[in-house]
Amino acid sequence: MKLSGKAALITGAASGIGLGIAHRFASEGASVVIADIDARAASRAASEIEQAGGHAIGLRMDVTDEAEVEHGIGRAIAHCARLDILVSNAGIQIVSPLDTFAFADWKRLLAIHLDGAFLTTRAVLRHMKADGRGGTIIYMGSVHSHEASALKSAYVTAKHGLLGLARTLAKEGAEHHVRSHVICPGFVRTPLVERQIPEQARTLGITEDEVVRDVMLGGTVDASFTTVEDIAQTALFLAAFPSAALTGQSIVASHGWFMQ
Ligand code: NAD
Repeated sequence: MKLSGKAALITGAASGIGLGIAHRFASEGASVVIADIDARAASRAASEIEQAGGHAIGLRMDVTDEAEVEHGIGRAIAHCARLDILVSNAGIQIVSPLDTFAFADWKRLLAIHLDGAFLTTRAVLRHMKADGRGGTIIYMGSVHSHEASALKSAYVTAKHGLLGLARTLAKEGAEHHVRSHVICPGFVRTPLVERQIPEQARTLGITEDEVVRDVMLGGTVDASFTTVEDIAQTALFLAAFPSAALTGQSIVASHGWFMQ
């Protein structure tokens, strides 16, 4: 068990990639805190992990709300008596041409991805410094941390921004044994992506099959979606890595869509 005795908080873990990471971490012995704006889904996910023999709690956390983040991370530490790993994963997608992008949508997307990453990092870092054991903070970036796509201006901006936060944390956290990483997945067939298929077909004037084949998988080497398990394994590798050799780095997992 690679995470035996550790505790991990994962934001946006009631669905998709975060949920997959929660299951993988729990099966490797970690106590898992599922923090999500959807409190009911978070509790359901935690119960599933408990039924499978793992340790998990679910709690409501809107990552854009400073008080909820502080309160939720406090509860998590009180429950687990420690916190070793943060996966800042909560995210949304809004697809629109730049010249008609609503300002409210721009601000909402940046708040979830960037304010959320900042607020959770700040709260967890304070704990990791005081605790003296340090820990690992993983951000869910994207191929869009390195590459742009049309219609995704806010998302591409936010995902590029996470690289800056992770690199700064690598420098500030080092003396406290706190490491940072960014995982950059290609397209993973989660609810976030399922919603984009009809939206992109409408905006680009092509069929849904063409969106999948040409837009989403056209750049991969094997016409394959990245899987939730691909990303969960990458997160496990980083969370269990024995030294700070990889701190500040982003790891792209995209079936060859983007190669660094
Ligand atoms: P998803 O829609 O399946 O899950 C996202 C989760 O985030 C949901 O449970 C949702 O309730 C939660 N959430 C939304 N707003 C929140 C908030 N304010 N506070 C707390 N939780 C909130 O999406 P996913 O595909 O699993 O995406 C997870 C992360 O992975 C996102 O950051 C996304 O940008 C990133 N990502 C996804 C893909 C992909 O192809 N699916 C690719 C690259 C990166």
